Amino acid sequence: MKDIKNLTFEELKTYFILQDEPEYRANEIFRAIYINKVKEFKEITTLPKSLREKLSNEFYIRGFKKVSTLGDTNKTQKFLFELKDKRLIETVLIKENTKKGKFRNTLCVSSQVGCAMGCKFCATGKMGFIRNLSAGEIIEQLLYIEDAEKIQNIVFMGMGEPLANYENVKKAIEIISDPRGRALGRRKIVVSTSGIIDKIYKLTNELKSVRLAVSLHSAFQEKRNFLMPGLKIYKIEDLMQAISYYTQKTGNTVTIEYLLIKDLNDGEEDAKQLIKLLRKIKFVKVNLIHYNPVPFADFESSKKEKLFFGILKRAGINTTIRFSKGSEISAACGQLATKESPINLNNL
Ligand code: SF4
Repeated sequence: MKDIKNLTFEELKTYFILQDEPEYRANEIFRAIYINKVKEFKEITTLPKSLREKLSNEFYIRGFKKVSTLGDTNKTQKFLFELKDKRLIETVLIKENTKKGKFRNTLCVSSQVGCAMGCKFCATGKMGFIRNLSAGEIIEQLLYIEDAEKIQNIVFMGMGEPLANYENVKKAIEIISDPRGRALGRRKIVVSTSGIIDKIYKLTNELKSVRLAVSLHSAFQEKRNFLMPGLKIYKIEDLMQAISYYTQKTGNTVTIEYLLIKDLNDGEEDAKQLIKLLRKIKFVKVNLIHYNPVPFADFESSKKEKLFFGILKRAGINTTIRFSKGSEISAACGQLATKESPINLNNL
């Protein structure tokens, strides 16, 4: 059985043509899955019964089993899903009040089971790389949550490095932004990467309006290599050039994510080096992230957050301090990892 959500609209159209079915069946399927949120083909009553049966024998629409939900329904919730092969992934729903008194829902989706980058502060990195998620598995995180809550923004900031699974992430974005289906605006989608340079160029050229966030965590090569060992093949100057290319070509602002860790990357010299690097980028904003301690890493939260923030601000850099929502349920940035996973390390 195959996941029908792995097919783009064009692929679905081709499939129906090959089955001697009219092309508009693809429109019916897209509407049923992504707008009406049907879970089984038998619910799509606009299709002939024989076709519904044929599709049911070949494909499935939903494949997740929810294992658990943690958190507060009015703030941040973490969902643990079991995939068809019993692997576990996490998805986080973050609710924020807008100025108009409404909720804005952001979904933090996973793109891989585990991650190969091995960032020292990250629980997912501790798991190592298990496998990529398919486009359908990425999309299903959205569909599952949208059975109950409308999502306004998606961030690829859950488990895994999205640009290391570029083709499936790209396909998932193409499907969820397709105007014949879910039609989520690409400007509402953020791809957060640890900095895979060639894929930043690819994303810029192929998914232009998607927004980009890059985890830098240090403007010094050696410190960055220490914190993010899987990225040490990339020079910071080359990464900056790729980021510049993105901002110039798209006109979008890039967000630089910077986790502040006590006595490691929170000094005055770190701030100054960061300013030096960012001067070369036209549209840039820095998110300073409060570090949430994790049991496996010997790091502490910085006490110099305001000082660091002030140095960047005085240099004219658009900067915010983010206290990652959800740290109380291990759902903050760098803390996602399936603690109940059979493949997980015991020392998490
Ligand atoms: S921080 Fe991101 S890139 Fe680094 S190990 Fe964790 S999931 Fe992978």
